[in-house]
Amino acid sequence: VSLTIYNTLTRATQPFNPMSDGSVSMFVCGPTVYDYSHLGHAKTYTQFDLVARYLRHEGHELRYVQNITDIDDKIIVRAAETGVTPAALAAEYQAAYLTDMAALGNTSVDTYARAHDFVDAIGAQVRRLVETGHAYQLEDGSWYYDVTTFPDYGKLSGRTVLQAEDAVSRIDRGIGKRNAGDFALWKAPKPGEPVWESVIGPGRPGWHIEDTAITEALFGPQYDLHGGASDLIFPHHEAEIAQMEAASGRQPLARYWMHTGLLRVRSGAKMSKSSGNFISVREALTRTDYRTLRYCFLSQHYRSGIEFDEHTLVQARGARERVENFAAHVSSGESSGPEEKSRVAHTRAGFFACLNADFDTPGALAFLFDYIRSANREGWSVTAATWELLLQVNSLLDAFELAESTRSADVGLPDTEIERLVQERERLRAERGFAAADRIRDQLLAEGIVVEDRQAETIWRRGRPA
Ligand SMILES: [Zn+2]
Repeated sequence: VSLTIYNTLTRATQPFNPMSDGSVSMFVCGPTVYDYSHLGHAKTYTQFDLVARYLRHEGHELRYVQNITDIDDKIIVRAAETGVTPAALAAEYQAAYLTDMAALGNTSVDTYARAHDFVDAIGAQVRRLVETGHAYQLEDGSWYYDVTTFPDYGKLSGRTVLQAEDAVSRIDRGIGKRNAGDFALWKAPKPGEPVWESVIGPGRPGWHIEDTAITEALFGPQYDLHGGASDLIFPHHEAEIAQMEAASGRQPLARYWMHTGLLRVRSGAKMSKSSGNFISVREALTRTDYRTLRYCFLSQHYRSGIEFDEHTLVQARGARERVENFAAHVSSGESSGPEEKSRVAHTRAGFFACLNADFDTPGALAFLFDYIRSANREGWSVTAATWELLLQVNSLLDAFELAESTRSADVGLPDTEIERLVQERERLRAERGFAAADRIRDQLLAEGIVVEDRQAETIWRRGRPA
């Protein structure tokens, strides 16, 4: 079974065929760094972290790029409010973003590309759009994209050029635009705002063109997979398509467009002292652990929205613990019999078939929980094959605490502590302190550790007395 992906561009679930065999190029819209990232970001980036981990697991050589919008109106406004330079503000929140992503276990991005570092490429792309008749200049010197020059405008979002007028996201107020839906490619310098030199003159980039300049520089004019939250479909991703496909004359910009459903904080949630929809990742991580958050995001289908509140976390933690409690009783050393092997194979096949079906993580987890429920109920022997399956699942989800050390700690004393007690007992015996030595043996037995005195040595094992 091979991977299929729901493609927003074609509105269909399609087999995943990358442009070239073996390697996959993936771009996901990163944050605008003017504030701390919130749980909505955490959902999107954790879900794409799974996509990246899965593609690599399946043997694709993945190149995963995320942009960092560090030049933007929002940054300029916030910097002015707080009395720092836009560059300092962006640097601070970029660092915070990277820290938050690491804290969430989102480790799969290869390259974080800052708009800042691609200003030349952005200027060059704007000039090509000017030369090909897609861009025009306002009186103030800003360059705008004329959406009526691109017949495919609206193909991703299913809108028309006229419907583009109701763009609510980052409404563009350029005065003298030809069409309400036209958007800025390059903004003319204004007093007090940062300014860059470029081949089309001084100014600063518009938001949409940052991404297409970055992906063209790193991947070329076409690549495999573009991701982002669903509120970016219009106008942001539509604008990306209009820019790059017009500039290069090739389409599609990206073969597959994946969009994550939005996270809403349920009103009345006690989770946060903040108001509205904004709970920062940092704040959430003071209330819960990162694996519970990952479980919460990954146990839902990525295209679904999440209504988030305290209850969501309680449920996620409960589900996590069911897996971890089960794992604590899996013997990792013993080899598995044919029955266990075949049950594990069935579970694994179901799990991966679901992931292959447009990353159906809830379906995949249902296979895992079926196995756990039956094993608990029927008292199945669960050993090496089961343990391997849990590790494999967790290499994709990173939602469970399964380290070998915690596992053996869960089933009783850690090995180091057992060694220490066994040696203490031997010392007592050598000094003929037999009563004290026997107390240690009984204590270990109560922990499920059997101590046996052989001719030349004392050995211990987990289990029942022979
Ligand atoms: Zn973007």
